[in-house]
Amino acid sequence: MPTQHFRAATWLLISAATCAAPAWAYTQHEAHIHGQVELNMAQDGNDLLLEITAPAVDVIGFEHPPETEAEQQVLKDAVLKLNRPENLLAINAAAGCQLHEQHVSHTLSEHAETHDHEKHGDHDHDEHDEHDEHDHHEGHDHHDHGKHSGHEHGEHGEFSIQYTYQCDTIDKLSTLTLKWFSQFPATEKIQLQAITAQGQQAATLTASQAEFRF
Ligand SMILES: [Zn+2]
Repeated sequence: MPTQHFRAATWLLISAATCAAPAWAYTQHEAHIHGQVELNMAQDGNDLLLEITAPAVDVIGFEHPPETEAEQQVLKDAVLKLNRPENLLAINAAAGCQLHEQHVSHTLSEHAETHDHEKHGDHDHDEHDEHDEHDHHEGHDHHDHGKHSGHEHGEHGEFSIQYTYQCDTIDKLSTLTLKWFSQFPATEKIQLQAITAQGQQAATLTASQAEFRF
């Protein structure tokens, strides 16, 4: 799969470039902070690789697998939105960057298929017990999915988004403007880490300071 290659390439590139200061390389494995999105950017020749990690609550307002049609629709709409990076960010035109590849994934549906929530409503708990091999079920006794504070996977659902751009004149790269905040106003700040020909840079961007200069 090209996306797998892309991801591997991105992280290889990033981890290779950040041996000296790898702190943010670990952030993927930690619980995210709501309202805070991570954006890692790396230049590879004429290519720009962007990887965004966003708390699901920032994007769709909840972090559990969708349980109603309305929630499924919200998720679907969000994925469509995230597949249109032109609405989320802008690279200065002089750099001549064209979107080459994109990949949007999330952790919200990992066990949606193994959980048959609709049946839960109709069956008593004795029948539940037959499904004990699904260890998550115990936490579902009260059908209060909004309070899955101890849920193994569902506590912090998140989105992972990768975009690659191929740029005709990448030496003209000068600004990255984030429109993310108007699409997803729950995000308060975006932590940007960039590794480009200009070196390694970091910035915290907000709705009122949404432009980054390389
Ligand atoms: Zn969370």
